[in-house]
Amino acid sequence: MRETLDVPVIARVNGHALGGGMEMVLGCDIVVAADNASFGLPEPRVGRLALDGGIAILPRRIPHVWAMGMLLTGRRVTAAEALRLGLVNEVVPQAGLDQAVERWLADILACAPLSVKAVKQMVRRGAGLSPQEAQMLRLPALVAALQSTDQDEGVQAFVEKRPAAMAGSLMTYVVTSTCIDVKDGICQKVCPVECIYEGGRMMYIQPDECINCGICVSVCPVQAIYEDVDVPLVEQPFIAANTEFFAAGVTGWGAPGGVTPEYVSKLDAPLVRDFTAR
Ligand code: SF4
Ligand code: SF4
Repeated sequence: MRETLDVPVIARVNGHALGGGMEMVLGCDIVVAADNASFGLPEPRVGRLALDGGIAILPRRIPHVWAMGMLLTGRRVTAAEALRLGLVNEVVPQAGLDQAVERWLADILACAPLSVKAVKQMVRRGAGLSPQEAQMLRLPALVAALQSTDQDEGVQAFVEKRPAAMAGSLMTYVVTSTCIDVKDGICQKVCPVECIYEGGRMMYIQPDECINCGICVSVCPVQAIYEDVDVPLVEQPFIAANTEFFAAGVTGWGAPGGVTPEYVSKLDAPLVRDFTAR
């Protein structure tokens, strides 16, 4: 998921981040650690290898000799050393860990969601490119952010010295004609806020509950879940028909906008007939 998530991920490290724990830390965007934390990839000490990103990512994060020193010996580094190496953003006394994480969270939430998403997508997808190539990328989240009214609202709020009321957010759709598994779907299992529901033969996402984390988009094996900027042309008639059917502001099955279980059970058959499965 570190390769696919377009939302910020914060590691809160309260103890030993070793092996798989360290690899999870390496997959995060921001790392906040208690002063008793330690970090390491001790796999070689038991004849194993850190193959879930440890060997590949660590040398790209910190100076070569430090990375090799850790990888070739399985040694741990303390939280203070990890801070010096740039593996950690902040080290705090253990008792203040939650407050420190909350501060980072509050600062992220103070930003426009579309801007945050665009930053994450640009950094992630531009990682292997030259700066010139990365700068030229016109990614969906970037386009959505540039077209959003949040830019005007953000500047206006700054001028008026008031908190900005950011409206922009991406909507997440399940395109039912593509979904292959409406019973106990993977997307349902991974959704952190449990806002994906089954209704008859379809999945749908409750917009009021969805936090737009993008996890379901990442895990769906048949790419039946889209953020609105990514809905391919071939699927757009499905969304459009549902919008028409449910009226303005309500985008139908699998789409945010207020689909209720009653609607779903009533409207299951006709819409499935309209859009044949691929
Ligand atoms: S993960 Fe994809 S295919 Fe599976 S139930 Fe969810 S939308 Fe359908
Ligand atoms: S439905 Fe929304 S909250 Fe749930 S996994 Fe998908 S994007 Fe995240």
